[in-house]
Amino acid sequence: MIVEREVKPILHRKKCPACGYYTVYQAVPAGTQATDTCTHCRHQITLPWDNEVKSTIKNTEKMLRDLEDVYPELKALKNPGDHTLLE
Ligand SMILES: [Zn+2]
Repeated sequence: MIVEREVKPILHRKKCPACGYYTVYQAVPAGTQATDTCTHCRHQITLPWDNEVKSTIKNTEKMLRDLEDVYPELKALKNPGDHTLLE
């Protein structure tokens, strides 16, 4: 049986308030909090790691996936360091 590690980092996309790009963020959960880091500019924020935050991340991903039709650039946001500006 494989036990899923709770501290597995989560890569997700969002618009970074620090560098202004759409970037790949890495959330690292640690208990009730998570450190969320922009993999492009290293801007770091601490999030309460609760269901609300988790569903916000999920909803943002869903919204960005819908936007991929309009902005194919979003599809390129996959790996740490990736960033793009939407025209
Ligand atoms: Zn950034």
